[in-house]
Amino acid sequence: MLPARKWKRQALRQFCYDKRTQPDQWKCCGTLYDSKASLGRHIHQHHPQDLLQLEQQLAAQHDLHDTQSVPSNQNLYGRRVEKGSSDAIDLTCACDPEQSRVILFYQYTKIDDPNRLAEQHGKFCGPAGWDLTGKVRISHEGVNATLAGSSSNIESYMTWYECTQQLTWKTRSRDSFFKPSIGCRHVFDSLSIKWVDEICPLGQPSITLANVLQSSATGHSTHKLSPQQFHTMITAGQDHDDLLLLDTRNYYESKIGRFKGAVTPAIRKFSVFPSFTDRHRADWNGKTILTYCTGGIRCEKATAYLRSALSEDTKVYMLEGGIHEYLNWIETQPEIQDPLWQGKNYVFDARQRLGPPSLGVISHCQACRQPWDKYRKCDTPMCHLLVLVCDSCFQPGQCFCCHECQRSTSSPCQCERDRKAKELAM
Ligand SMILES: [Zn+2]
Ligand SMILES: [Zn+2]
Ligand SMILES: [Zn+2]
Ligand SMILES: [Zn+2]
Ligand SMILES: [Zn+2]
Repeated sequence: MLPARKWKRQALRQFCYDKRTQPDQWKCCGTLYDSKASLGRHIHQHHPQDLLQLEQQLAAQHDLHDTQSVPSNQNLYGRRVEKGSSDAIDLTCACDPEQSRVILFYQYTKIDDPNRLAEQHGKFCGPAGWDLTGKVRISHEGVNATLAGSSSNIESYMTWYECTQQLTWKTRSRDSFFKPSIGCRHVFDSLSIKWVDEICPLGQPSITLANVLQSSATGHSTHKLSPQQFHTMITAGQDHDDLLLLDTRNYYESKIGRFKGAVTPAIRKFSVFPSFTDRHRADWNGKTILTYCTGGIRCEKATAYLRSALSEDTKVYMLEGGIHEYLNWIETQPEIQDPLWQGKNYVFDARQRLGPPSLGVISHCQACRQPWDKYRKCDTPMCHLLVLVCDSCFQPGQCFCCHECQRSTSSPCQCERDRKAKELAM
């Protein structure tokens, strides 16, 4: 078989797999399909670009795997885990952590000319400018960015961004918007700036920027809770079964850190959150739902979807600033003996996880079961699953997500099929 043909088939298979909502049912663009053939026709007709992109991704992943079995940034950081030590990161690069910063922010706002804003980012943030690394996603609905660089260049970027977007800090602080954390430009391989359809892909044409902004536009921004309000509401409602704490992130994120008692969907990407919600409509109607994610961007869309999908008497709130802001707040509250959060906040860069070591390790090495929360990638080409294997159990080239993946390269492998079954059964 020609390689190109192989990626095409694999891409179609994966696309269908991701759209499955029941053993014999698939959902795409809001429509249900009862056979793979009918879904296939829809995909070829309406998603040729997505399919091509997936195909290229698969081929690129495979090439990457051939040239380097361990991603170059994988072992950049070690972390001191002694209890009570500060949240220091041991850098193996020459950067001074005190002189470097990583920021993570989003803004839902109408962008008239995404292309122009993307070009400006390229010009100012590139090597000839502030020399930042990271990812910037820009669309007509706003900006989603995580950037790293020297503290002074990050400072210049923030000032420039505030200026271009005319941001003022009346209702929230600058830090709670940009969410700075320790880390240098090497936490990302490069700088990637893209003009995209959605800054946070939910894949629901019915949820627009207007839905996301609705509450602020009408002056009811009360559905956003500060860390303190969030904490108080959970503490007060802990014994009530009409309170639902809902994690809107993916399974590998909640696996290493979550709020106690939260529902943690076994989903692998945010775009299946709506079908997860649809399956729970009956139990969730009328409840008080508190959602949270890393920094808030997913909850903005998740809460918009929940409000549109659930009955009117359902109360939907989100944690503003996400886990990131909750962890910052909890550090200023030494009198709180029992933080509701446990484990680490997963982040999508080489640091992988943030948070004070005192909040523990809640996951385990899949080989020896000792507490462990640092992911590696499965060594099987084509399999991009994250694996928790500790340093003692780790053998280069022998790190697999499951036995089946070790023996054959046909995807999805056993552990991924188990995960999907769990997602559908939850
Ligand atoms: Zn579709
Ligand atoms: Zn560095
Ligand atoms: Zn181990
Ligand atoms: Zn695997
Ligand atoms: Zn597996």
